[in-house]
Amino acid sequence: MQNLMMASPLTISSLMEFAEKVHPNTEIVSVTLDNPRHRYTFADAFKRSRQLANAILALGAEAEDRIGTLVWNDYRHFELYYAVSSLGMICHTINPRLFPEQIDYIINHAEDRILFIDPLFMPLIEQLAEQLKTVEKIVVLTSPEHMPATTLDNVFCYETLLAAANDNIDWPELDENTPCSLCYTSGTTGNPKGVLYSHRSSVLHAYASAMPDVLNLSRNDVIMPIVPMFHVNAWGAPYTAAITGSKIVFPGPKMADGEVLANLINDEKVTASLGVPTIWSALINYLKASGRQVPSLERVIVGGAACPLSIMETLEDDYGVYTHAVWGMTETSPLGTVNAKLNRATLGEDTYRTLRQKAGRPIFGVEIKIVDGENNELPWDGKKFGALKIRGPWVCSAYYKLDHSNSHDDDGWFDTGDVATIDPDGNMQITDRSKDVIKSGGEWISSIDIENAAVDHPAVKEACVIGLPHPKWTERPLLLVILHEGQSLEKADMLAWFDGKIAKWWTPDDCLFVSDLAHTATGKLSKKDMRDRYKDYQFAD
Ligand code: AMP
Repeated sequence: MQNLMMASPLTISSLMEFAEKVHPNTEIVSVTLDNPRHRYTFADAFKRSRQLANAILALGAEAEDRIGTLVWNDYRHFELYYAVSSLGMICHTINPRLFPEQIDYIINHAEDRILFIDPLFMPLIEQLAEQLKTVEKIVVLTSPEHMPATTLDNVFCYETLLAAANDNIDWPELDENTPCSLCYTSGTTGNPKGVLYSHRSSVLHAYASAMPDVLNLSRNDVIMPIVPMFHVNAWGAPYTAAITGSKIVFPGPKMADGEVLANLINDEKVTASLGVPTIWSALINYLKASGRQVPSLERVIVGGAACPLSIMETLEDDYGVYTHAVWGMTETSPLGTVNAKLNRATLGEDTYRTLRQKAGRPIFGVEIKIVDGENNELPWDGKKFGALKIRGPWVCSAYYKLDHSNSHDDDGWFDTGDVATIDPDGNMQITDRSKDVIKSGGEWISSIDIENAAVDHPAVKEACVIGLPHPKWTERPLLLVILHEGQSLEKADMLAWFDGKIAKWWTPDDCLFVSDLAHTATGKLSKKDMRDRYKDYQFAD
């Protein structure tokens, strides 16, 4: 039997058309290189997206072309998100923090035809130009008076193109399974891999994100995505806001500047903000030094890495800001689990502290499980560690131009490469990347739990725990610590700090105070590099 409901496709243009009609006056505020506080509305943005779409067509682009962007979070990038995808082309967001050889690899792999770039990336593109085999045109996101000088041909000014384009367009009628955007994820090994999102997956993810126990967004919210728009579509916030009508504040290139963030929060009355843990450290450091408060900010959504408890407690107790931990990946659009608001009074302090450090419970739409080495499902008892697998409508089914057998089981589950526990209430906790987990005496030790306990020490700025070969135990943990400026700490005191905080046998066998730790291009600790650095280290007997 056929159902009798309409098959309206879930497309990016449907989000845009809805927001333009229903939330035309919602504001979008941006910091850009040519304007410290640009301000306009959804209606203005989508009118310009239509002009931009005509400009893109005039540049010769066609359906399914990949259009690259090297841009910080601002309104022009927002216009690109909507125009490119609604034309049936693929918005390929590129992380400018990747190593130049990775950028050149992914542009060639994606076969981008046009690149849209912020003016400050012109020197980078000039340096790579020889290697970029498929790029025909470069558009600089600025006004004519701020165009950078360049040695390259076929360079266009964004505002000049828009000024010459009209805003009438009939968007193509797209199947909801058409690809809309592409983001490469750079692991610590091998070449970056592309995740190709569809209109349907992006709209479903946006619907799910808006729910109360997810981002809990409404038109009363002012949302500031600090997580970059080149990193998993700023966790989908630019799409979700079109559904909810939340005002958006884009911080532009100064994302890690505590003062810029505090000014934006206070001036624009930001209620919710999204970012990785280091962003919140930068904000806290600035607030402490300046004595300022951020009264409008109700909550922050923190993912990409485990959020240290000290950050959560300072934000809540000193600034009245609630922290939600979330877990996800480029491959999962990204939201997979969310730690929804917990009731501190009913839970009591100890349970509250334990629960809030978890990555949260799955969102309807995604299924998660943990498995042992033989792919047997492990119980949700909060104790057993296992490889975390996931499936659902906004989880990738294969990487771009790669066979799915590289990353997926035959029954379709995606192996996240994370190791986790899940408790009986569905609370998932990441204990490691599978390549970083420490195997000691046949048991697994969570390097992340030890790092979290270490950074809660007031003298510790950053900590990294790696497993190194041990003659008796196979591997044992080595702790590497960067101290805050002006602080000193004895090794014995650092190791004694773990008493009662982690299992006794997890206590690192040694601790070294270092001045530098290796990071990946997305700012995560690169334990592979740290293991290489300390490969000759030997534990004392
Ligand atoms: P990316 O694809 O660059 O966003 O990185 C995804 C990876 O970040 C995951 O596979 C995890 O290893 C890590 N990650 C994300 N969220 C969390 C979290 N809440 N706790 C611990 N690790 C996380």
